[in-house]
Amino acid sequence: MLETTIAGSLPKPGWLAETEKLWPTWRQEGEALAAAKRDATILALKLQEDAGIDIVTDGEMSRQHFVHGFLENLDGIDFAKKVRMGIRDNRYEADCPSVTGPLKRRGSVHATEARLARAHTSRALKFTLPGPMTIVDTVANAHYRDRIEMAMAFADLLNEEARELAAIGIDVIQFDEPAFNVYMAEAAGWGIEALHRAIDGVSCKTAVHICYGYGIKANIDWKSGLGAEWRQYEKVFPALAASRIDQVSLECINSRVPAELMALLAGKDVLVGAIDVATDHVETPDEVAATIDGALKYVPAERLYPCTNCGMAPLSTELAYKKLTALSAGAALVRGRA
Ligand code: ZN
Repeated sequence: MLETTIAGSLPKPGWLAETEKLWPTWRQEGEALAAAKRDATILALKLQEDAGIDIVTDGEMSRQHFVHGFLENLDGIDFAKKVRMGIRDNRYEADCPSVTGPLKRRGSVHATEARLARAHTSRALKFTLPGPMTIVDTVANAHYRDRIEMAMAFADLLNEEARELAAIGIDVIQFDEPAFNVYMAEAAGWGIEALHRAIDGVSCKTAVHICYGYGIKANIDWKSGLGAEWRQYEKVFPALAASRIDQVSLECINSRVPAELMALLAGKDVLVGAIDVATDHVETPDEVAATIDGALKYVPAERLYPCTNCGMAPLSTELAYKKLTALSAGAALVRGRA
């Protein structure tokens, strides 16, 4: 009960990449880079285990960014043809690669690190992939008729990848869909339809992570303008409750999301964000327990998984580790009372 997990990413060591950056430059090349990614993956697993995390990830050590990591091994994408564009409804600008032809996987994208992670932990293992709607919001379209057609094409490739990951022994495959909090009506329509395509025939558990983003300035500014109550989730949770996705990962601590919105996810596992990734403050176990207690009013204990609000990639390793330790200590406090 109350098994802990993380949204996905962890800080990269300084010998692998630039630290405390969302789009870090690799510090190695070629075989040295491959070796550094392997070492960092094993270290990420070890740190999560030592912090008491029950359902661990590879920390996303092998990808530069949570969206573009998946795109790098696809045909149909031109990384040299970058387009500066507003993403997440123009919240910020990014240099996005272009889709210039039919999308196709050249082969497995993440099988190497998934196999490595599986070989080095006996804990339940989660693997993250970007969701179709978030991918199409982070690339420039120069080939498909519209975003929906492109999203379905990405969903088919994600499905091939997800089936392989499940066969490798991954226990949970999570699709990261921060775009679901931006384009709520579309998320409840073709966004979930694309997710269903991505999970079709996938034998392990499936999850979707919907958040208010990493703790970067553009997101903090956006959140400060969202008013006293953030009700974005209210528009998409009913559609997710009716979907075939097993788990929903959301932002909870230090957010203005009313806790009662979690009642809209009846029947789903809920990954409750009890660690803020936008502050340097290390939560106390009591603070973590208070967040879990708040969620327990709306989510049965057997469906509640204490988690981080979002990825920890831009934090320092030391801070992330302290926060993860607090997460498991807080969950233990609540468990101890039961
Ligand atoms: Zn997130």
